[in-house]
Amino acid sequence: MHIVYGGTFDPVHNGHLRMALEVSDRLGVERVSLMPCHIPPHRDGTGATSEQRLRMLELAVDGEAQLRVDARELRRGGASYTADTLRQLRDELGADTPLAMVVGTDAFAGFDRWREWQVIPELAHIVVVRRSGHRVDPDGQPGRLLSERGAREPRELFERPCGAVLELDLPLLDISATAIRARIAEGRSPRYLLPDAVWREIRQQRLYGACPDRNF
Ligand code: ATP
Repeated sequence: MHIVYGGTFDPVHNGHLRMALEVSDRLGVERVSLMPCHIPPHRDGTGATSEQRLRMLELAVDGEAQLRVDARELRRGGASYTADTLRQLRDELGADTPLAMVVGTDAFAGFDRWREWQVIPELAHIVVVRRSGHRVDPDGQPGRLLSERGAREPRELFERPCGAVLELDLPLLDISATAIRARIAEGRSPRYLLPDAVWREIRQQRLYGACPDRNF
């Protein structure tokens, strides 16, 4: 099974990395691909560029066999629509290989606002990782998708190429990129929330208002 986990990763942090490893372990797959999305440069002046986010991801997964980076959305440029990405992956994998995308409950709760969201279950399975403080409205479209397509066991995802929605309860770290950016901007250390190599890169590139001379 091929698993992709998309996000802005601005910056990637240990919450993302642990979650990807937990998914890989729970589903018994060899690896998970972290897939950074393209962000229009005018969206948020304080964030990192696509190239910088990609570089941080590469540093974060270096030497970790269970994780890899898939930069296709950055290479494609323009807006990153998940349906387009999954269509491209489906073409590469062929019709029969199971393909799954991982999202947190916060992302899945707004799933029906994604472009061509109805097509997505025809291309891939959806693995929804439950995050505390976020819920999916059972009467909304994402909630309905969950009740109509809900898988009971991870095993079901291996039995067909797409179409199932699997909710997983995993031990998660309560870390967010927003909090890390705020911490750095205030001159406080984000260490142990993200890999040291990523923090080093943030300082070297002076991202998020970081000062290169800080030696913590
Ligand atoms: P931001 O704070 O900038 O919104 P973020 O930390 O939430 O960033 P994103 O790149 O927006 O990270 O998230 C990508 C995906 O990772 C989403 O599906 C989100 O639910 C999930 N995610 C984010 N943080 C965690 C975490 N600590 N544990 C597990 N999943 C997470």
